[in-house]
Parts: sequence; C-alpha cells; structure tokens
Amino acid sequence: MIYWGCHVDSVCMLCGVGVESCDHLFWDCIFTRQVWKKGKTLLATLIRLAWNCLNYYIWHERNSRLHGRRARVMIDIFILVRQDVRWRLSGYAKLFGSVVLWLLSGAYRV
Ligand SMILES: [Zn+2]
Repeated sequence: MIYWGCHVDSVCMLCGVGVESCDHLFWDCIFTRQVWKKGKTLLATLIRLAWNCLNYYIWHERNSRLHGRRARVMIDIFILVRQDVRWRLSGYAKLFGSVVLWLLSGAYRV
C-alpha cells in the first residue's frame, strides 16, 4: 500500500511486529507461518483419514462380493468414504477448532 502512495501504517496488521510487504505477509509473518503450520497438519490428517477410509471400503467391498452380498457401485463407496471421513474429522474439532467445524458445515464439500 505504501508502494502505491497510500498513507497507512507500515507495521504488519497480522503480527504487529514486521514491516508489511508481500514477502512479509505471505512468507515471513509469524501469524502466517502459524496458519500454514496448522493448515499442513490439518491437510495431512485429512489425507490420512481419506486414505484409510478408501482402503477400508475397498477391502470391505471386496469381501462383500466374495461372500455373495450385493455389489455396490463406485459412487456408493465414495459416499460411504465421504461420510466416514466427515464423521472421523469431527473428532478433530477440538484440535483444529473452527476450521474443522467449517469443513463439516458443508461450506466446503469434504
Ligand atoms: Zn506480520
């Protein structure tokens, strides 16, 4: 903003310490680094949950067909995986706070 001639405080509004610039805002700011760190942990958790659920339901489907039960179509298995991931993710609401609640609210299709 200062670069464009705007009269604003040059102190970062997120951390209150650094001088605001693009590099600071997206890379150097302590606040941004904390958001990225939590986001990476949440993403890793989400991927692990999805991976485990996919493997479980594929194995379950294989066993169902082996024992002569009704064969599901792919979309039904995907829906089961999605429901299971959402249910398991709700257990992480305390750890990740409002981000998980937002994911579960349906605002973002998990
Ligand atoms: Zn900052």
